[in-house]
Parts: sequence; structure tokens; C-alpha cells
Amino acid sequence: MEKGWTLIRGGQVVRGGTVSRQDVLFQGERIAAIGELSDSRAAVVIDADGLLVLPGAVDTHVHLNDVFMGTVSVHDYYTGTRAAAYGGVTSIVDFSNQVPGGALARTLEDKREEASGMALVDWGVHPVITEPNQATLDQIPYVVAAGAPTIKCYMTYREDGLLTEDEDLKKIAVHLGEAGGMLMLHAEDNDMIEENVPRLIEQGKTAPIYHARSKPPEVETEAIRRIVGMAEETGARFFVVHLASADGLDLITGARERGLRITAETCTHYLIFTDEMLEREDGIKWICSPPLRDAETQDRLWMALGDDRIAMVSSDDAAYSWEAKLLGVDRFDRCPNGIPGIEPRFHLLYSEGVAKGRLTLPRFVEIVSTAPANLFGLAPRKGSLAVGADADIILFDPEARWTMGGDTLHMATDWSAYEDIEMVGRILKVFSRGELIVDGEECMAEKGRGRYIHRTLLDPRHAAG
Ligand SMILES: [Zn+2]
Repeated sequence: MEKGWTLIRGGQVVRGGTVSRQDVLFQGERIAAIGELSDSRAAVVIDADGLLVLPGAVDTHVHLNDVFMGTVSVHDYYTGTRAAAYGGVTSIVDFSNQVPGGALARTLEDKREEASGMALVDWGVHPVITEPNQATLDQIPYVVAAGAPTIKCYMTYREDGLLTEDEDLKKIAVHLGEAGGMLMLHAEDNDMIEENVPRLIEQGKTAPIYHARSKPPEVETEAIRRIVGMAEETGARFFVVHLASADGLDLITGARERGLRITAETCTHYLIFTDEMLEREDGIKWICSPPLRDAETQDRLWMALGDDRIAMVSSDDAAYSWEAKLLGVDRFDRCPNGIPGIEPRFHLLYSEGVAKGRLTLPRFVEIVSTAPANLFGLAPRKGSLAVGADADIILFDPEARWTMGGDTLHMATDWSAYEDIEMVGRILKVFSRGELIVDGEECMAEKGRGRYIHRTLLDPRHAAG
């Protein structure tokens, strides 16, 4: 018997696009062997007969401790990563906004402080540029070298101090490209929104559904059209976050076919909900940006995920308290935009995707783990079951039936957008770097065990391909 060795025996292992019955052996933090390992002398043997053995999920779009629209998200590095762990997420990448007058490098220090003694799973940082001056541009190579090669900018939220103009975006993209990085963009046209919102408010159209009316698909499509232009002009790499429009999807698909380096993700809520939710009395729960769209758009997003026109799915976790969401109850434009979703993504995408026949099992693993790890430089340590990779592993019962609701979730919000959803499949155990951190209903992870992930993008020609 070898101490410190664990063998997961006889599960259906998903790796390299295939599913087969294999054993997985890990020692300490890393996977030591995968295959037919029946005579292994591991000290701990877990019978995974009838279970799926999957790589830990990777969520590269979360907002922890996020100060936004006059409030702050209730997910900090403890509550946020705890909920993440219950949802099978063993790596997150969080956004860190450059504070007014603050150096870009400080975005990394700020998160190191927030995560210290708190994080339960491994974490990385995307700096968000809010002041695109020369000093900021000069620090881009520094943050890339410090393991944060993906920077985000916003094409809207001018009043919140987040907007960056196209001329500056192009400069940032070029500097980032030279340093080996990639620019992520929140694609919504600010001018159109700033024209629509006051008009609707003036007409007394203040209910939650008008948030969606103020940001129709054209708002997103127009911004994406400009991104395609920037990609053409600069040759740099772009990543469109939370894609939610069919025309935007077509623009990106066309650009990729012409060899431009634009990749897109969508988010869980666009695949689960439609804009009908905004018509409900409690519609403020579903106010997010871009807004939820119609059922036809939702079908197209699912199809594009299936054939890799959309590379992956993130949560865009933005968890504001009910009190904060209520700011928008009579004024959609005052509602903090965002849906708490760091925990349910894996379960929802399996249940709605694999169990309903929209995604193959290997494709599901790709969109929740492998693609985010590859695109954002967490690979090869994260995102796949492979010898030498971190032993971030999920044991999953594909037959379990249960109902998701606020009472089954562990997020820190006092409300849930996900209620009474019939689920197929359930996570039984989660390992992070070989340590069992979730066992059924119990979270055993010690506060502060999560480590900073120093990220490096793969060969630029492939990273965003
Ligand atoms: Zn976001």
C-alpha cells in the first residue's frame, strides 16, 4: 500500500474527446496514471462503477467582490469559491477593475489580498483596464508576465467609469498581442443604450422587460461589428464575452472563416432562460447584460455550442443581494446587472445539454473545462484528465434525479434565479489538486487553500483559434 495514492476505479473517464472505462490514479496533487490499473497498490480506492470521471470545471468569467452600480457583489473569495466547489468548479478566473488613478499592476495585488486566507479553489485574474493611458499600456507586459495574459475592457457602462473607446481598444489589443495576451470585450454599443434608456424612462416604461428593450440584439451586434473591424485592422486576438445574439454570432463566425482571431463564449443563463422571465413580477432577478433573448436565439446558441462556433460557456457570476436588486424594481436602469451562477453551471449544462441530447458528453467537458483552460492559459495543469495534470476531478452520477432551487444551492445570495428546475445527473465528489474538497453535501476545503494560477497562453496561433 502506497500512502498518498488514490485510485478511482472503473469509472467512465472522459478525455481526449472519448469516453471509456478506465482507472485514474493520483499521487499528491497530480494525476500519476490513467488506464487499466487494477493491480495498483493505492491506499485509497474509490469504486466509480456507473459513474462519470471528469476534469474539474473551469469558470473564467466571475465577478467576486465586484463594485458595480452602487453596490458590491456578495460573493467574496470564500463564499464564491465555496459555491464554485459545490458546482464542481476547481479553477476560477476573476475580473479585477483598475481603480481610478490606480496602476494596472495593482489589479493583481488587490485580488491577492482578497483571496489570501479565503479562496477554496485555485484562482486567476483578468485585469480590467479603465484608464487606457500610456502608463497603463506600459504595464501590459508586466501583468502578462505575472500570469494574467487576458485583459478585459467594456464598450459600455460609461457612467460607471468602465467604458473604453475604440481607438484605445485597438492600442490595448496591439500591446497585448505583442506581449502574448488576448483582449476580452464586453460588446454593447454605448451610444445606442444611452439613447434608448432615457427615452423608455420618459415614456414611463420602467419595468424589468424594458431593460431588454433598451438593449435589443442590435446593440450587441453593432459592437461586435466594430470588434470585427478592430480585429481586421490590428490582426490582434479578441474574445467576446457573454455572446447572446444570433446576428453577433453570425458576424463572429464569418470573421473566423476569414481567418480573423475572434473567439466567443456564451453564459449559462442565456441557455436556460428567455426574456419571458423579465415579464414576471420578480423580473428583476433576470436583469443582466446583454439581456436574455427569445427562444429562437436560445436554440441558435445551443446549436453553435454543439459545433464549436461558440467555444465555451462561463457563468458570468455577478451576485448582488436582493436589497441591491430591488433598486431596480421601479427603474430597470438602476438594477445592478447580473445573475448569481457560479455554482449551477456544470449541473445545468449537463442536464439541459447532455441529458437532453443537445451536447455530446465529450463536448460538454470541452465547454465547461477543457476549452476555458486552453483559451485562457490554465492548461495543461487544468481542464483535462492527463498524466501530470493537477488532480482536479469530479465524480458524477449521470442517473441521479433531483430538483434544483435556492435550497439546494450554496451561493451567498438570499435569492435564486434557478428555482424548481428538474435535473438529471449530480456531482458526488470533487477533488482539487488531489484533495477531496466536496463529498456529497459536505464541503471540506480549508479556507485559503486555493492558489494563484499563473497563466500563459498557448501558441498564439492556436490559443484563440
Ligand atoms: Zn461579466
